[in-house]
Amino acid sequence: MSTRLPSFERWGSLQGKRVLVRVDFNTPVAEIDGLLEVTDDFRIRATVPLFEELLASGATVVACTHFGRPKGKIVEKYSVAPVRRRLAELCPGVELLENLRFNPGEESNDREFGESLIAGFDYYINEAFSASHRAHASIMIPPQIVPSAAGPNLQREVSTIQSMLDNPARPFVAIVGGAKVADKLGIVKVLSEKADTVIVGGGMAFTFEATQGRGIGSSLFDGSYLEECGELMKHGNVLIPEDSCGLANGANFGREGGTDEIIEFGANIPDGFMGLDIGPKARASFTATIANAKTILWNGPMGVFEDARLSAGTEAVARAVAASAAVSVVGGGDSVAALQSYGLESDVSFVSTGGGASLELVELGDLPGLKALRESPFN
Ligand code: AMP
Repeated sequence: MSTRLPSFERWGSLQGKRVLVRVDFNTPVAEIDGLLEVTDDFRIRATVPLFEELLASGATVVACTHFGRPKGKIVEKYSVAPVRRRLAELCPGVELLENLRFNPGEESNDREFGESLIAGFDYYINEAFSASHRAHASIMIPPQIVPSAAGPNLQREVSTIQSMLDNPARPFVAIVGGAKVADKLGIVKVLSEKADTVIVGGGMAFTFEATQGRGIGSSLFDGSYLEECGELMKHGNVLIPEDSCGLANGANFGREGGTDEIIEFGANIPDGFMGLDIGPKARASFTATIANAKTILWNGPMGVFEDARLSAGTEAVARAVAASAAVSVVGGGDSVAALQSYGLESDVSFVSTGGGASLELVELGDLPGLKALRESPFN
């Protein structure tokens, strides 16, 4: 991967200069006393040191972000107003533009919209790693028009992932989970070349299990990937669950929970039942493999972890990753949420803010937003 990214330090004094910073302040909000308020300000706090440095250097700092999915229209509930209020408390003196996605030109990467955004600015900084896999106007156009740089958090995310892939301490164990094999097969393929073991769990594992002639009942399954999953199993380093747990068809489960007792199926799930978490044997072999690792990459839950009855596999993996002394990188909203819910966030080496972006960086080796910065004519 060649991703030397330009830094803003080379610009020198910013006295009297105007700097546009693309951030990802797509934070959760909730109504409190009739007013929408930010409920997790992690992303805002993480950007304050950069803002303070720019302000101290004499710059006028304006930030811009997407916020929810208003689909190119002005939708009041997607106004950045709550984020703006929190930002003003954490770092006064930084202006925040209204939601980029209120304009359809943002997502269609419209040149004119990008030009209007950067008009009147001297510099641009991309500090939105988690949005850099999207070729949207605020990511792609400014580097073509003004001197541009990668923000420090973006640089740290990229270099952490790159050094893990380029030169991992071994054994390197990757853990991939989540619902859909379609979303994650590419990453399993790349990781099966780079890692010593790729653990596959969650709903996506059943298509792999089916290639081994195992019964999967009515668990998640995508027959169009059966052949590719079968090929990957021949690599010999893809570890799938030996057993699973779940429920009968029609039982309630998920965020709202349910009351039925969880069934342990062993290696084969009978017709009329579905696998919703890895089983006890899989928990034991996955955690033993993780305990032996020197480098760990984890993305995606092992089961329907939002339902406490089906969270044992994800919790076991989270605890094993946290207990390990290996370099550990965890990405993806669900894995990070799982870590947080067990209070283990600070026990891993690096929590990536961008699930989609980190997967794409691992899979393809680059992101459109990084390429835009590297190819800026002002470098
Ligand atoms: P993804 O968005 O692909 O990372 O998938 C995350 C979602 O996969 C979570 O909401 C889990 O509830 C869900 N999931 C994990 N394992 C299973 C499973 N065995 N069956 C159905 N859904 C699952």
